[in-house]
Amino acid sequence: MLNIVLFGPPGAGKGTQSEKLIEKYKIEHISTGDLFRKHLGEGTELGKLAQKYMNEGNLVPDEVVIGMVDDKINSTADLTGFIFDGFPRTVAQARALDELLTKKGTRISGMVALEVPEDELKKRIRERGKTSGRADDQDEEKINNRIKVYNDETLPVANYYQEQGKLAKIDGVGAIDEIFQKICTVIDNY
Ligand code: ADP
Repeated sequence: MLNIVLFGPPGAGKGTQSEKLIEKYKIEHISTGDLFRKHLGEGTELGKLAQKYMNEGNLVPDEVVIGMVDDKINSTADLTGFIFDGFPRTVAQARALDELLTKKGTRISGMVALEVPEDELKKRIRERGKTSGRADDQDEEKINNRIKVYNDETLPVANYYQEQGKLAKIDGVGAIDEIFQKICTVIDNY
């Protein structure tokens, strides 16, 4: 199985690159942000629980996220692999993901980390906010908080994979297709 963690700050281009990757490698996309937004839209209990965290740009508690990912992995019939997008966002989530995959007899192949300077991130998120309808894309304070939460709580996840020799950093500024090619080169070497 090919199991990729696509990593990077908000606005780094994870969603855009994930779409291209699932098409090329025929693996399942697990975006925890998308899953939460789906629950929100459907008004489920999980959606209601996640809403207050998401709206402020804070992290949803680990056990809630991990339970949702566990369900998603277990409800996927054809196990060819996964792209994890926006997950794991804490070291506790990374450890839990390792356990879930071990139970399935598989493991993370590697992490691809997209690097984008903060000014460029903010520009992209503001631009996306014009059409995304996402409350967390439209408010300067919320955008700043998401970047802060990323730096404080999520960046250590990169070290977790680096210690296992599984981290590849990619420059996330440039043409979408060029960035995609660089990611594919990393993946084809797994
Ligand atoms: P972004 O565009 O900021 O990268 P996402 O679309 O991935 O954000 O997620 C939106 C929000 O959903 C996050 O700000 C957070 O509140 C919540 N969320 C998504 N994934 C996770 C996770 N793995 N752990 C905790 N909270 C999460």
